[in-house]
Amino acid sequence: MQDKPVALVTGANQGIGLQIAKDLAAKGFTVLVGSRDLARGEEAAGAIDGDAHALQLDVTDKASIAAAAARVRGEFGRLDVLVNNAAITNVRRRPDMSVEEYARATRPSVVDLDEVRAVWETNVFGVVAVTQAMLPLLREAAPAARIVNVSSSVGSLTLNANPAFHFRAIFSPVYSASKTALNAMTLAMAIELEPAGIKVNAACPGFTKTNLNNFRGTQTVEEGAREPVRLALLGPDGPTGAFSNAAGPVPW
Ligand code: NAP
Repeated sequence: MQDKPVALVTGANQGIGLQIAKDLAAKGFTVLVGSRDLARGEEAAGAIDGDAHALQLDVTDKASIAAAAARVRGEFGRLDVLVNNAAITNVRRRPDMSVEEYARATRPSVVDLDEVRAVWETNVFGVVAVTQAMLPLLREAAPAARIVNVSSSVGSLTLNANPAFHFRAIFSPVYSASKTALNAMTLAMAIELEPAGIKVNAACPGFTKTNLNNFRGTQTVEEGAREPVRLALLGPDGPTGAFSNAAGPVPW
């Protein structure tokens, strides 16, 4: 087993995940750059200053998850931090469709359930599957182990219940509700893992310029990575079962 702590970031070949990986490497972690395409993961790992290794990991593929967990155990012998960052917003949105048009096409009355299933497969079930596979390693790192689920305030039921909430018009069963479900999974995991001292929290990075929103976000990836990284580095007095952004707590 190596001395340095090890962090795995899923979907770290681009966007906020890559920045989280860079920041954790700068904090002295050996960082595993999860990427469904190994070559793109290797390219990203090569761009990181510090100890970074690409790890083939498709969060929707059981065999890929099992192979990744076996490789972490065999090659590194430990896992201290898991950042469940990988996500998609849709599988069927046409490039000419605006976010508003897509929201209209995915209202509960008309949404294609295969679209819901595909997005939840990555954003919700993928997180649970990867966490289950990595938990034996994380338990060995307890009570210092940390799990961060990268969520979004667009999944907040409390915010969406308020007619004045900016993103309310696009609250749909696809992406937004997948983050609501991810929040529920976060709390369930936090409750189960609290006796072991493993902290599990959800972070909203904020509206960040990435591929996910065709680079329309208003924040930089450095800003977007701030809260997930803070939660990955929580000390023993830090919270568990919380949902927050860089400004503080976000209502569930
Ligand atoms: P991004 O640049 O599109 O990155 C998403 C990452 O997830 C990519 O590396 C992608 O891999 C990966 N991914 C997708 N499906 C995967 C799968 N099945 N297995 C493994 N990896 C997979 O988007 P981002 O904005 O950085 O998103 C990072 C996180 O922040 C997500 O959880 C997102 O929901 C959340 N978030 C983003 C914003 C924002 O404004 N950007 C706001 C709130 C929350 P490929 O490169 O292979 O596609």
